[in-house]
Amino acid sequence: MSETYFKFPQCCCVCMKPFHTNQLITESKSIGATYVTSQIYVPVCNECKAKHFDSNSSQQLIIALVLGLLGGLIGLFIGMDSKDFGWFGGIIAGGFVGAMIAAFFITIMNKNLPVRIIIDWQSNISMKFDNREYQKSFDEMNKHNRAFY
Ligand SMILES: [Zn+2]
Repeated sequence: MSETYFKFPQCCCVCMKPFHTNQLITESKSIGATYVTSQIYVPVCNECKAKHFDSNSSQQLIIALVLGLLGGLIGLFIGMDSKDFGWFGGIIAGGFVGAMIAAFFITIMNKNLPVRIIIDWQSNISMKFDNREYQKSFDEMNKHNRAFY
């Protein structure tokens, strides 16, 4: 887990209206042999939280469940016909493939969030906001701050 020292302009980072809550966002990246995970709370208003973050995470849960179950089912049928695999091995392998596909979709969905954590190859952490005005104030507030893993 990383320590970050970012300061955030005190308004919603998506629409710049007064913020109500803090939303946890997460980013992971493998750099060489290490796996870097960064979690940062960003200020958001209730409307943007519901629109961009809550719906996103429940959609992700459904996608992961459906694809995992679907993979397990397909694996079950393939495994029943295969002598050396067996139905149980089929469920495990199918569920695993389903989970991999789900993880792939979830990565793409996270790329669509209006705010993202960027981890570069030196483990430097920065923030990317779709709202350019917010990005500008954020950059201004943090120009002497750098977060390292
Ligand atoms: Zn907002």
